[in-house]
Amino acid sequence: MPRYRGRFAPSPTGPLHLGSLVTALASWLDARAHGGDWLVRIEDIDYPRCVKGADFDILQTLERLGLRPDEAPEWQSRRESRYADALRRLDASGQLYPCGCSRKEIADSLVHVRERHQTLGYPGTCRNGLHGKLPRAWRVRVPDGPAATICFDDRWQGRQCQDLETELGDFVLRRADGLWAYQLAVVVDDAAQGITHIVRGSDLLDSTPRQIHLQHLLGLPTPSYLHVPVVVNADGEKLSKQSGAQAIDTAAPLDALRMAGAHLGIANGETSVPAWLAAATAQWAAMQR
Ligand code: GLU
Repeated sequence: MPRYRGRFAPSPTGPLHLGSLVTALASWLDARAHGGDWLVRIEDIDYPRCVKGADFDILQTLERLGLRPDEAPEWQSRRESRYADALRRLDASGQLYPCGCSRKEIADSLVHVRERHQTLGYPGTCRNGLHGKLPRAWRVRVPDGPAATICFDDRWQGRQCQDLETELGDFVLRRADGLWAYQLAVVVDDAAQGITHIVRGSDLLDSTPRQIHLQHLLGLPTPSYLHVPVVVNADGEKLSKQSGAQAIDTAAPLDALRMAGAHLGIANGETSVPAWLAAATAQWAAMQR
């Protein structure tokens, strides 16, 4: 068994809030409970969504809460040549094609195919050529038939299966605006950093089959997955900057940890950050997910 390596991979779109802290804490606890390493990777390649300074703000908040990475943090913006290499490899093996469809064209064709109850995702319009359109994005092929169904056993959510062909279709790895898709970057980096265990929010549950498909195509190992329930606000929306989540108050680190712990079913009466984290690690280990 390779040594346990986990990570927290925040997008620097704003300060850490309760929702992202729950994910950070769960991944930290799982790494500690396994006696493994915990890394932090700043996922800052969706440039229009990034907020200047949010990366250092997140790192500082983690530090104040006693969640210290075992290696220096990485920034995806410094790793883009790796994504280009992976894209070239997929292209060389015939797995990619340029797509000239606009969002509107895809939406229109989806209305049409939905009427025929065929597919909910990209219908593969450009699979066999651009039909005179200009290339915009790069898509990777998904398998046809039974091979299109990807299943995995999530340590929290149980067995999950998705039919990539009928539920999704060929998906984008390089966007029309030239930016790298999250799906490609995350797979390349998790493998390059030797990540064995991924612990993150359940909003990414339905991205996982796409990532496993890419791991298969690139000959990379598939890590173990645990998706923690996302924190929702009073309206049932996922906590996020858009839904008005408040920044973690680092003046009261124990309160922040207690609140995040409560979402994971973890509570203890310790009154210092290190003691609280140690007790929480023992509790997490006893939960044995
Ligand atoms: N950067 C992603 C996010 O903040 C998380 C990626 C992951 O954990 O795989 O939503």
